[in-house]
Amino acid sequence: MDGAAIQALVLDAGGQAFQARQLEHWIFRHGAADWDACRNLPRALRERLATRARIRDSAVVTVDTASDGTEKLLLRLADGETVETVIIPDGDRLTLCVSSQVGCPVACVFCASGLDGVRRNLRSGEIVEQVLHARDRLAAAGRGIAPARLTNLVVMGLGEPMLNLDALVAALDRIRDEEGIGLGARRITVSTSGLPDRMRRFASTPHSYNLAVSLHAADDALRRRLVPTARATVAEIVAAAQDYFAQKSREVTFEVVLLDGVNDRPRDAAALIAVLRGFPCTVNLIPWNPVDRIAGLRRPSESRVDEFAEQLRRGGLNVTVRRQRGADRSAACGQLRLRQLAPGDASAPQDSRSQRPPDFG
Ligand code: SAH
Ligand code: SF4
Repeated sequence: MDGAAIQALVLDAGGQAFQARQLEHWIFRHGAADWDACRNLPRALRERLATRARIRDSAVVTVDTASDGTEKLLLRLADGETVETVIIPDGDRLTLCVSSQVGCPVACVFCASGLDGVRRNLRSGEIVEQVLHARDRLAAAGRGIAPARLTNLVVMGLGEPMLNLDALVAALDRIRDEEGIGLGARRITVSTSGLPDRMRRFASTPHSYNLAVSLHAADDALRRRLVPTARATVAEIVAAAQDYFAQKSREVTFEVVLLDGVNDRPRDAAALIAVLRGFPCTVNLIPWNPVDRIAGLRRPSESRVDEFAEQLRRGGLNVTVRRQRGADRSAACGQLRLRQLAPGDASAPQDSRSQRPPDFG
């Protein structure tokens, strides 16, 4: 619910407008998970509210903690579906990675999230609740993670956020709101597999979030093999990213998931340089995290990743390399959910894609 809907709810339950604002503070600022926690609301009002609405619709079912402090939360939604949200400590940053859909329809060949297609979009509240659950976790006693507050948010979990744009924008508005969760737009990054029309619609929304674009390859034929459902060309995707930069003055990041012998060759770096040179952007190289059910792909060696990065730098591009986090656990996004869906059977091929390794000649 947005502010107006919460106000209507409270008025309908016999409360007043200022109590609606108090309720928003309880839920989003203080993290109240049930009505009794909203202590300065009269008991009778709380009881009437409880018959009309629930504060939370999802629950944490599994917490998977890696030795580097990364925590993966598996959440069960009201209809029994599950999504992942991941708390990633990194120096003085504490980043939360949230999901936008249950599964993903884009079906990139290297990704666990799209292996079983998409089940449905998340509602905006289900996106916001991922932040609330993560904050509960951080508030729990006895944790060694510093800082104790979330500093950044990335929409890089399950799903293609641009295919759930209205709910995403409503959720980000809620997460950004200074009266509530208060994580500013500058600290929020949305990652997309590259849907130019949606990227432009996203650019036309009022707030300036950071944009990350999963490019993976600058050659159209190769990119289509990695992102088989993509309809836009590389040139169209890069043009939409440039428009986002022009409109928002926010530097765009291009993500490249590096696969050994597939898109990590000198000529792949040269193609990226040719497409991105002159555009003030950053290329984030992500060495592939292996996925149980995906055969035929390999993570490149560290030296290959370094050489690739160096070639891009010599070509004039800003480059960062993502260190693998949560490596001893289900590091790849979507992997924890898959393991939960098919416990004990994680290595068994269950769809045609995993039985037949992708053909990269
Ligand atoms: N659907 C959006 C956002 C979610 S995926 C998108 O594709 O951008 C977030 C990032 O994780 C993308 O860059 C994606 O390519 C990357 N990714 C997915 N599976 C991965 C894996 N197994 N190893 C490394 N990166 C992966
Ligand atoms: Fe979907 Fe992103 Fe995974 Fe591709 S990489 S299948 S777009 S979640």
